[in-house]
Amino acid sequence: MPSHFSCTMCGRCCRDLRLPLSLAEAADWLRDGGETQLLCDAIPWPVEPAADDRLAAYKSRRSFPAMSGTLPLRVIVTVVAAFEGPCPHLQADLRCGAYDRRPRVCRIYPAEINPFIELQPAAKLCPPEAWDERHPVLEVEGRYANASLVATIDAFRAADIHDVEAKRRLCDVLGVRTAAVANEGFVVIAPGREAMANAIAAAMRDDEVASDAASAASWTFISNRRGTRETLVSVDAKAGAPEALPALHEYLGFQAANGD
Ligand code: SF4
Ligand code: SF4
Repeated sequence: MPSHFSCTMCGRCCRDLRLPLSLAEAADWLRDGGETQLLCDAIPWPVEPAADDRLAAYKSRRSFPAMSGTLPLRVIVTVVAAFEGPCPHLQADLRCGAYDRRPRVCRIYPAEINPFIELQPAAKLCPPEAWDERHPVLEVEGRYANASLVATIDAFRAADIHDVEAKRRLCDVLGVRTAAVANEGFVVIAPGREAMANAIAAAMRDDEVASDAASAASWTFISNRRGTRETLVSVDAKAGAPEALPALHEYLGFQAANGD
């Protein structure tokens, strides 16, 4: 069944967020005075998946290889604009004060960026009247109807893949070597505006040069679940509890701590 949509400008999607950004967008966000964070998660990757595994190929393109002890893994780094309460660009009349230069993710919402996630209107912040069937068609059987929206989603995904090497260098510059287990949570690194701006600039400067430092150094999985840590250690990976994280790092778990 088609999804119909028109934004009611309720402003709900502009509050209390971590907005995923490309590195270029993050540099702009910082220049505008906003805050950013790094979210790190990692997938144990003991063997290369089958060539026709589309989901694994998608994850592989968005990540860089590394090691935890003797266990290969793929690290996914997401740079986000972070704010509690209203976005610094949200105006009193609920219009975006940076409309022409707002991040791609703001142009895409409520559509999905991940091609493996189905659009679920009920899971979105938009009010019921935004989905009235008298509005233009947004999506039919997983395909978005608006060419400009499709182009923006494609551009987001292309930037995501393009930035992988620079994100690897960003981890080198910031000394990041910890990641949450994928689907359990994120390690959140908040080094502050100036440190982040300098690190992003350094990581983007060497855009054409791959760095192997992050993959050469051993990474530590962080989990708030003792069973997960024990499983990782049993396969010669390094694992630690959130309490072991260094300064400026936090653990954002999707589930309550378990087994400690
Ligand atoms: S940049 Fe604009 S559209 Fe994006 S969250 Fe902020 S106010 Fe909303
Ligand atoms: S939550 Fe939905 S309807 Fe409300 S401003 Fe955001 S996109 Fe528009």
